[in-house]
Parts: sequence; C-alpha cells; structure tokens
Amino acid sequence: MTESVNFNVIGTIDSPYKEKFAIPRQPGIVTAAQGQLRLTGLANNDELVRGLEQFSHIWLLFVFHGTQSQGWKPLVRPPRLGGNKKLGVFATRSTFRPNPIGMSVVKLDRIEQCSAGQNNVGQKTSQVILHISELDLLDGTPIIDIKPYVPYADIIENAHGGYAQNQPSNNITIIFSQAALQTLADNITLYPSLQSLIEQVLKQDPRPAYKQNKTDDKIYGMSLYHFNIKWQMSDLSTLQVMTIEATTNHTV
Ligand code: SAH
Repeated sequence: MTESVNFNVIGTIDSPYKEKFAIPRQPGIVTAAQGQLRLTGLANNDELVRGLEQFSHIWLLFVFHGTQSQGWKPLVRPPRLGGNKKLGVFATRSTFRPNPIGMSVVKLDRIEQCSAGQNNVGQKTSQVILHISELDLLDGTPIIDIKPYVPYADIIENAHGGYAQNQPSNNITIIFSQAALQTLADNITLYPSLQSLIEQVLKQDPRPAYKQNKTDDKIYGMSLYHFNIKWQMSDLSTLQVMTIEATTNHTV
C-alpha cells in the first residue's frame, strides 16, 4: 500500500459484549443488545449531533480493534459457508481486512448530554452519549464516523446477497436451569433484558462454523455485561443455560 490516511477516533462504545465470542455476525439480529456511544475529544460536543435525533437508525464506522493486530489475508473462510470455502476478503464482512474498518447500522434510541464533572481548570465538562441498540460491537470499539441511516438511499429493493442472501435461521430452543433463572430474577432490576439477550445470542448458535448442525457435549462459556454464562447443547434443537455468574468486574 502506497498511501496512508489518519483518522481521529470520535467516540467509544460501551457494549454488553465483552469478548468476541458469541457476538452476532451482523447488527439488527439481537434486538435486546443495548449499548452506548460516548463521544470523545473535539467530537464530544452536542453541536455535532444536532438533528440526528430525527433518525431511527445510524451507521457507525469503526475500527476492529480486537482483531487489528492479527493482520489480514487476501482469502478468508466465511463462517456462513461452514468455514471450509475460501473467498476474497472483499467478498466478505470479515474483521481481518487490509484496513480494519467495520460498519454497522444500529438503532438510535436517544441522545443524552450529561454533566461529566469539572476539568482541571474548574470548568464544567459535559458528555454526549448516544444510546443505541441492536449493535454487534465489542466493548471499547473505537468509532471513526457516524452517519444517519437514510432509507430512500440505503434500502435497495431486489438487491442480490449472494451466499449471504438471507439471515441464517436456527430452530434452537433455549432452556434455563433453575439456578440460571434465579440469577436472572436477582438481577431483573438492573438488567431487565438479560434473559432476552442471552436467548437471542444463543439462538444464533455461536459455536464455531464447523460445529453448526452438529451435536456436541462441550460446556461453553461466554460473557455478557459482567456475567459469565455457561451453556451446553442438549440436542440439535435445544441449548441449556446452566449457570449465570456475576464476576466482580461490575459495569452496567
Ligand atoms: N457489521 C460489521 C461487523 C461484521 S463482522 C461489518 O459488516 O463491518 C461481525 C463480527 O465483528 C462480530 O461477530 C464480532 O465478533 C466482530 N467485532 C465487533 N466489534 C469488533 C471489534 N471492535 N474488534 C474486532 N472484532 C469485532
């Protein structure tokens, strides 16, 4: 590559997805996922988002910071094709790209400006927060741009989606152990949608591509917010959440 450009990060994501494993493969699929985008630096100014509240959805352009250091290859194996067929990186939405830039349409729930205390010369500081949902972003994701989602231009009727035409469908029923249900009940006030979030995430069957449509007795762990969740496939169409444990690292 001959030329390079620099961008400034304009915000950071707070997401329930604390690790890559089990994050949905596109936004909009897990509707119970809620997060925040905190604007930073010169972009942390409500003038930049004036009028944005008129839009129900926004495009976020971001850096795949969690996989950036692993580089890229010209060919990748999309999970959608079972992980055993290679396609050109530009024919996929892989995170391992020459420029590790991702794009996601997320729902814009509301924009908040709150007081963030005082700076070191005693001036009041404020923080602009965009409350978003249906995201597919890892916690801490650096955002490099926000654009309104404009339906007349962004919806393309009759577009061809090639090997990814339709959303993958799984008929998996999620069941919760008594212990897991108890933890959900204990946390219902602070995390009212935790059960839906777990159900929607697991319905995607987050296991590696080569295990799709195969049974497996491995116990998997995933983290959402500060909860450590253990689950196992009972059979091809049933997945059981065994335990939900709060770790000490508590963030809402
Ligand atoms: N909608 C985006 C992302 C598609 S890839 C796009 O099309 O560009 C989706 C995967 O990105 C998720 O499964 C998640 O594991 C991964 N991901 C999300 N945020 C990330 C980050 N900050 N760093 C690395 N990977 C990330």
